[in-house]
Amino acid sequence: MGIHISTKIKLAANQGERKSVQVGDIMIGGEKIVVIAGPCSVESREQIMEIARRVKEAGATMLRGGAFKSRTLPYSFQGLGVEGLKMLAEARDETGLPIVTEVVSPETVRIVEEYADIIQVGARSMQNFPLLKRIGKARKPVLLKRGFTSTIEEWLSSAEYILAGGNNDVILCERGIRTFQSLTRFSLELTVVPIIKEVSSLPILVDPSHGTGVRSLVSPMAKAAVAAGADGLLIEVHPKPEEAQSDGDQSLRLEEFEELMKSLKPLAHAIGRSI
Ligand code: PEP
Ligand code: MN
Repeated sequence: MGIHISTKIKLAANQGERKSVQVGDIMIGGEKIVVIAGPCSVESREQIMEIARRVKEAGATMLRGGAFKSRTLPYSFQGLGVEGLKMLAEARDETGLPIVTEVVSPETVRIVEEYADIIQVGARSMQNFPLLKRIGKARKPVLLKRGFTSTIEEWLSSAEYILAGGNNDVILCERGIRTFQSLTRFSLELTVVPIIKEVSSLPILVDPSHGTGVRSLVSPMAKAAVAAGADGLLIEVHPKPEEAQSDGDQSLRLEEFEELMKSLKPLAHAIGRSI
């Protein structure tokens, strides 16, 4: 039987072989599992530099950090904007880690793509069609997060917008959906990993930080994601989560991230991959 998606989805559908996205010498969707780690938000130069050095030492492949944030409330920290992008670029210069950062509006795509190695479309923006159209014209790869109330076909339709616009480098990222379950912030739908491999050719990452919202659940679900065949992970890390401007409850401490990286190695090898 298998799983079938609408035939109207073309470019984001399975093309017969898996696609990979190249960022410098890093390949997303290849044999090596990529780990994108960093704070939810860039908060200061010191904060991002410390995190960048430590996650690099622990074996992360890329650095994440929000400079333009999409927050549920207008009173919450909205990010450092262009200053945050400059701090990320400095962290990249020192560590060599490529940077992944979010874009929230069509008007800021130009500036974000100037700094970012991968531009992130957040869950809340997944169906911002003017943004998706503009990103289709961007020259950088895109990390497309799943909207937390979106079906897999809606998610792939959003990927289709970017691909149809001429940007061939789309990476999907599952980050949890809303369910009736209320003990965690979201429910991480790991089933999408094998589903995406069946119905699409795009690389698929998993974000167990937003997917659970609870620090103690991040490492177990990161391991489960690797076992399920994810091409990579997105992990929020903070030296002092209790002082974080956003998402402290779900951020791993630096030592916890180091532990996680160690424990992922044998797991990756067991399924014929490396990390
Ligand atoms: C984030 O990555 O910090 C973020 C805002 O994620 P999401 O869009 O998945 O909520
Ligand atoms: Mn976050």
